[in-house]
Amino acid sequence: VAKRLEKFKTTIFTQMSMLAVKHGAINLGQGFPNFDGPDFVKEAAIKAINAGKNQYARGYGVPELNSAVAERFLKDSGLQVDPDKEVTVTSGCTEAIAATILGLINPGDEVILFAPFYDSYEATLSMAGADVKAITLRPPDFAVPLEELKSAVSKNTRAIMINTPHNPTGKMFTREELEFIADLCKENDVLLFADEVYDKLAFEADHISMASIPGMYERTVTLNSLGKTFSLTGWKIGWAIAPPHLTWGVRQAHSFLTFATCTPMQSAAASALRAPESYFEELRRDYGAKKALLVDGLEAAGFVVYPSSGTYFVMADHTPFGFGDDVEFCEYLIREVGVVAIPPSVFYLNPEDGKNLVRFTFCKDDDTLRAAVDRMKAKL
Ligand code: GLN
Repeated sequence: VAKRLEKFKTTIFTQMSMLAVKHGAINLGQGFPNFDGPDFVKEAAIKAINAGKNQYARGYGVPELNSAVAERFLKDSGLQVDPDKEVTVTSGCTEAIAATILGLINPGDEVILFAPFYDSYEATLSMAGADVKAITLRPPDFAVPLEELKSAVSKNTRAIMINTPHNPTGKMFTREELEFIADLCKENDVLLFADEVYDKLAFEADHISMASIPGMYERTVTLNSLGKTFSLTGWKIGWAIAPPHLTWGVRQAHSFLTFATCTPMQSAAASALRAPESYFEELRRDYGAKKALLVDGLEAAGFVVYPSSGTYFVMADHTPFGFGDDVEFCEYLIREVGVVAIPPSVFYLNPEDGKNLVRFTFCKDDDTLRAAVDRMKAKL
C-alpha cells in the first residue's frame, strides 16, 4: 500500500459490520437503516432506467438534479445558487469530500478538523499530502474550545472542516460557534468545508448552514447527500455546493475520480429532493422517537448517555462497566451481549481521547432497537 495510506486500517464500519454478521449480533454500529427508502423514490429510479437514462450523465450532474439541489438549498439556507455553475453531483458525499480536498488542497497545506471526525477526512487529507490538525470536542456537550481553535490557525492553514449535525457525537454547532469559526476564516483567509449530510436529522434546533453566515458563502464548500435523508445509503448520490471559483477545483478532481455519477439514480434523486415538506417533518419525528427509545434503554442499562441533538447517532460513556477502553468494551459487547457498536477512538488523532466512549446508531426499526436494549439490560 502507498505510504500515504499506510497508517489507515480497514475502516471501523467495515470491521464492525463483518463482526456483526459473524456473531449474529444486532448491528447498532455502521450507520445504515435496516428499513427501505420511500417507494416514490424507488419508482422514480425504475422509471428512469426503463426510460433509457442509462448512459454517462453530464459530468457535474444531470440538469434536473442540479436544479433540485439548488431549490432545496434555497429552502433550507435561504441562499440562491446557480445549479449549473455552483452545484456538482458526486458519487456520495464521501466522493464530494474527496473531490473538495483533492481539488482545493495542496501538499503541505494545513487543514483543521474537529475530533472525533468521520474517518474519510483524515485519510483523504493524507492522500492530498495535507497536514492535519485536530481540535478535540469533549463531553458532555462537545463544545468548540474557541481559544484553542484560534491558536491552532496559522499562516499555513488553508481550510477548516466542520460536520454539523456532527457524527459521531450528535452535537450541532451553535450559531455562536459558527460565527466564531467564520470570523477566523475571514480574518485568516481560510476556506471552510461543511459536511451537512445529517441536516434533516436535527431534533432540537434548526440546522444552520455555514454558507448562510454573512460573508461565508464565497469561501465555503457545502457537502451533502441523499443517503441519510431518504434511507438510501447504498445509492451513493452526493453533491458539493460552492461559488464558481471553488466549484472549478471540486469539478476538476471529480472529473478524474469518477467522471460522472449513476444516471438513473440522479433522476430519482431529483424527485426525492422535491418531496413535500411533510416527508422531512415525518422523518424528523420518526427519528426523534427512535432516539428516545435508544437513549432511555441505554440509560436503563447503566450507560452515561450524552445528549444528541442531531444525526442518527448517540455517544455514551461505557466506564460504568469497568473495561479498559472502547475497543475492549465493544469486543465484549459483540461476543457476550450480541450487540455491535462503534469504538470511536479511531476518530481522534489521539485515540486516548475517545477511549471512554462508544457510539450507537438508532437508524433501525423499533423492534431491533428494543431487542438490542433488552440484551444490554440483561447482560451488561
Ligand atoms: N456514515 C456512516 C457511519 O458513520 C457509515 C459510513 C461508512 O460505512 N463508510 O456509520
